[in-house]
Amino acid sequence: MPQLKADCLTVSPNPHKRKNGKARRDIAQINLPKIGQVKVIYHRPIPEGFTIKTGLVSHKADGWYVTLLLEDKTIPSLTPPEIQANEENSLGLDVGLEKFWTASDGTVETIQQHYRKSEDKLAKLQNRKDKKPHKSASRRQLAKKISKHHQKLQRKRKQFHYESANQLVSRDEQVFFVEDIKSANLSRKNKPKQDANGKYLPNGQSAKSGLNKSINDASWGQFLSIFIYKAAKAGKLVVKVKPHNTSQVCSCCDLLVQKDLSIRVHECLCGLILDRDWNAAINIKRVGLGIFPTIKRPKRSLLTTTKEAHTIPF
Ligand SMILES: [Zn+2]
Repeated sequence: MPQLKADCLTVSPNPHKRKNGKARRDIAQINLPKIGQVKVIYHRPIPEGFTIKTGLVSHKADGWYVTLLLEDKTIPSLTPPEIQANEENSLGLDVGLEKFWTASDGTVETIQQHYRKSEDKLAKLQNRKDKKPHKSASRRQLAKKISKHHQKLQRKRKQFHYESANQLVSRDEQVFFVEDIKSANLSRKNKPKQDANGKYLPNGQSAKSGLNKSINDASWGQFLSIFIYKAAKAGKLVVKVKPHNTSQVCSCCDLLVQKDLSIRVHECLCGLILDRDWNAAINIKRVGLGIFPTIKRPKRSLLTTTKEAHTIPF
């Protein structure tokens, strides 16, 4: 983000009046490096005592935006509070594919399927657009409509992330353990498979594509940064933990119960039958509390051959 001068924004009252005699919106101009003076629509006044630090210029479906980062030197920056996590004051959260998150106490946040719900609408618009002749005005109009639709979805999703973060922060727990996942890793494409003659074989990508969509839909990265910020403001703590084996190990007896993603229920020899994500959330909490066992997994080659539902190693 480019550094902006503190006085880059100038606001002056509009000398022209509306037809009804009321004052028009103030005229605001921003001085951007390398670009110069640009007229902007000024949504909110800069609060007293703040200085402009940096600015981000972005192009969205309905125009250009400048986002300003403000600084108030009198306010100390947020430092994460020091809280000792224990069984009672902490909560584990599992990232969902079916659900947005599942907590270690069994609470669930259902996934907002904004994308999927609007997909039909989007597909219809896309269809209509495709039927229009190239370079026609109607085609251009529809393209604009489509990108606005996307923008609206993004905003809705962000709002949902804020609501979900607020809901969690308002709970009694002080420490939240979340999975440290890189969604980019999860949505990586499967390697193409070929047989001896070079013919392409099914590689499970089609099944994974639906999954990828859910992961992107859930957009964890955005949610986590909002959640971390909201928690810090409330004097609470969000701790990222490594989720290795948390979906496979029994949260009751520590047995490794291997299951691929299609198996949605954790069923263990000890008698525990629990929703897969709930079991994982309990384990994530245990990782955070340092009471999760170290698991030695069988070699990779063994793993790939055992595809059945509940493979329990000896
Ligand atoms: Zn068990």
